[in-house]
Amino acid sequence: MAHQPNLERELCSKLLSDSEGHRAAESKHEPNPTHQGEEHRSGIPKANSPKMEFHFLTLFPELFSGVIHSSLLQKAQNKGLVAFHLTQIRDFAKDKHRTTDDTPYGGGEGMILKADVLYEAWRSVMPDQSLSPSVDRQKTATVLLSPQGEVFSQSLAKELAGFSKLVLVCGHYEGVDERFIDLCVDREISIGNYVLTGGELPALVVADAVTRLVPGVLGNDRSLTEESLENGLLKYPQYTRPRVFQGQVVPDVLLSGDHQAIAQWRQQCREQRTRLKRPDLKQALKVFQQ
Ligand code: SAM
Repeated sequence: MAHQPNLERELCSKLLSDSEGHRAAESKHEPNPTHQGEEHRSGIPKANSPKMEFHFLTLFPELFSGVIHSSLLQKAQNKGLVAFHLTQIRDFAKDKHRTTDDTPYGGGEGMILKADVLYEAWRSVMPDQSLSPSVDRQKTATVLLSPQGEVFSQSLAKELAGFSKLVLVCGHYEGVDERFIDLCVDREISIGNYVLTGGELPALVVADAVTRLVPGVLGNDRSLTEESLENGLLKYPQYTRPRVFQGQVVPDVLLSGDHQAIAQWRQQCREQRTRLKRPDLKQALKVFQQ
């Protein structure tokens, strides 16, 4: 809503004046919170860094290259921390027309991705995997991107970052034969309550969010801990040069050098803006109100 930033600014200004009062009473020799975790800052992977493999099963591999070959995802591959593999489902079609879909039994709209073709594509990246989800699948997981799945979240991204191999199956058309889901899929994940044409964008969303959590991918591991949705709260307001822009000034507390006051102001802003912008995150707010 348009009025929120102004309201928020007022509240943060109030916090600012409160924190200035508080600042005078506090010691200025507290540890600098922005310098914690210095030893992780180089971004150089430690010898035993976990390496994460992502396998995308898709009919449209051309949709992936711009994303996986740019920015942090490319850097993560260069450092050997993650690997992205694309499998063209059509390569596993059995007939001369390379058919991957068929009409639904019982009638109805659209085309369904065939279980046998999907199964062969999955088998090519999971050659040793037993069937029946959840059996013997500690290190690997097969995820079907689906509007019927659990809605993706930061905590789910963290959970997936615990696996060393993720197979992300991208549906298309009207969906996927249920028997493939029953036999091979560990979990279904939705990226939101809307319907897309295919699972490729959702798979990239999941892979991007999980890759950021692989140790060493972000140069500074500490940048994860204060991020939006870590601990269920949104991040505090951030500013960089110039100090004055279009008459708007950076809050004085951030220029004070008083790291304890800055940390306190930021924490108050996190709680305040979560209450204003995302009141649905009430669980986290309850914890901080106790
Ligand atoms: N007929 C299906 C249904 O009602 O559940 C929807 C099929 S959708 C048009 C085609 C494919 O896009 C799905 O199989 C899935 O892989 C992907 N997809 C669409 N919306 C999605 C969402 N919100 N989250 C994750 N995947 C989605």
